Amino acid sequence: MSDIYDVIIIGSGPAGHTAAIYTSRASLKTLVFEGWQPGGQLTTTTEVENFPGFKEGKMGPELMNEMREQAKRFGGQYLQKEITKVDFSSRPFKIYAGEEEYQSKSVIIATGAKPRRLGLESESRLWGKGVSACATCDGFFFKDKTVAVMGGGDAAMEEGTFLTKFCPKVYIINRSEQFRASDIMLDRAKANPKIEILTNKAIDEILGDNNVTGLRLKDTQSGETSELPVDGMFLAIGHIPVTDLFKNQIELDEIGFIKHTEHTMTSVEGVFAAGDVVDHRYRQAITAAGMGCQASIDVERWLAGQD
Ligand code: NDP
Repeated sequence: MSDIYDVIIIGSGPAGHTAAIYTSRASLKTLVFEGWQPGGQLTTTTEVENFPGFKEGKMGPELMNEMREQAKRFGGQYLQKEITKVDFSSRPFKIYAGEEEYQSKSVIIATGAKPRRLGLESESRLWGKGVSACATCDGFFFKDKTVAVMGGGDAAMEEGTFLTKFCPKVYIINRSEQFRASDIMLDRAKANPKIEILTNKAIDEILGDNNVTGLRLKDTQSGETSELPVDGMFLAIGHIPVTDLFKNQIELDEIGFIKHTEHTMTSVEGVFAAGDVVDHRYRQAITAAGMGCQASIDVERWLAGQD
């Protein structure tokens, strides 16, 4: 590839799209790689009720599509390719999608985070056969069935509440008595007659040969085990940053999130990062979008200083 981009953005959630809106509007030659999940995590959510500007709420995928079209309006280019390798050792930076090489003066990493797994053998074996991390994607397959959602955060409450559209019975299982979920989401789930919340329970094993038939639960206080018959199991136990690609290239923290050095710049000058791949505290669409904006302004200023 002979073209050298001003900025390549890796990832297309709210951080990536917002960065692209700003850099392309600033007439920087911008290429966005949409990655393994175009639109990011918001494409697996339903209604986004807290993104300012939409008083009636907005569907996650629709919001992402609007952002993408907004960036394209200003000349942002998009490729639905997954990056397989990066080389930040010299400038221009090199980004690879398989055998194809792309070059850029600067990079914004906005690869986000992906669902955390329990790490059980039965979870891998039954993945897609009753085990899922996306109620929005897979909930419909469990129409009239009993399902469980593991987790005590907002995601678990949202997924559990959403599943009651299809399922007459939904268990939400939390490993302690403390919930990370906001009061409003927890209260909504508690008030739903189709939801039963189980506390102090961990999943010891997911039961079933070819599809999920139940869960073996372990009481985290007494250690006692019990079986809960369910047809599906949804994980909502948080997320881990998507940073494997960058492990030997830039500095990460002990959990794997990218570290900023100055403003949104990473440990490599000219490489910036924004959104959930950096932020494990706020993790909101609006904060990711805000950081995407910050990264694009940092890129613009940094590039101006290079000429
Ligand atoms: P959280 O980190 O908030 O919650 C994760 C939950 O999973 C906790 O209850 C945690 O338990 C539990 N957990 C973690 N690891 C395990 C494990 N190995 N086994 C069993 N349980 C486990 O993640 P969420 O994805 O729920 O939320 C992330 C962010 O996204 C939050 O800021 C949230 O507000 C936001 N969000 C907002 C929504 C909305 O407003 N519509 C919807 C969804 C998310 P423990 O507490 O014991 O660690």
